[in-house]
Amino acid sequence: MRAIDDNLQAVRQRISSAAAAAGRAPLDVTLLAVSKTHPAALVEQALQAGQRAFGENYVQEALEKMDALTENSIEWHLIGPLQSNKTRLVAERFDWVHGIDSEKVARRLSEQRPAGLPPLNVLIQVNVSGEASKGGVAADKVFSLSESIHKLPRLKLRGLMAVPEPGASVVRYRQLKSLYEKLKGEFGFDTLSVGMSDDMETAIAEGSTMVRVGTAIFGARRKIRPAA
Ligand SMILES: *Cc1c(COP(=O)(O)O)cnc(C)c1O
Repeated sequence: MRAIDDNLQAVRQRISSAAAAAGRAPLDVTLLAVSKTHPAALVEQALQAGQRAFGENYVQEALEKMDALTENSIEWHLIGPLQSNKTRLVAERFDWVHGIDSEKVARRLSEQRPAGLPPLNVLIQVNVSGEASKGGVAADKVFSLSESIHKLPRLKLRGLMAVPEPGASVVRYRQLKSLYEKLKGEFGFDTLSVGMSDDMETAIAEGSTMVRVGTAIFGARRKIRPAA
């Protein structure tokens, strides 16, 4: 019980210090707790420690946790890759989707978002070259994809997301931030999702508004899950 609470406090402290060092307000940076591979009981502990936003990579695993946790103030973010045949459950159950890299997936999410729910928040994943993950669109495709997604009625395009490779040069973070700043006014962006357990300080120094932190909160991941 204490461990998760302590870890969360330590992560919040790292965020505040990094924000202060960059002359930014701590509240400029949202903490997304990445609970993939960890049981619902640990999510429950984080909830009791005041954490509200949780990130999951695998749709099926996330749905099991949603069903196990009755707390309805949780904000669920899908941060893993999304295939177009899995969009319906995502449109119905999640609040945010970070890894959008195709118009087709975006269109399906918009069509399938239930009328009774607010628009689904989405982020376009950018592949600044050298990225560890294979997902994401090249920087020069982001503008046209933003234009298409911006028009979809049941989505709210909030900004960009990226996964720089471990040890990436600060230049990558700056490229991302400059792309974000270029599109921000046009599309009303307010979210730049970049930074994890090992690089949150760099990401915050370079303008991240949302860090996705797993290991530093929940410890090492339990086991490798098949993509679902
Ligand atoms: C797993 C994952 C994270 C969390 O990484 P940690 O290093 O455990 O903090 C963040 N973002 C994405 C996209 C992930 O898949």
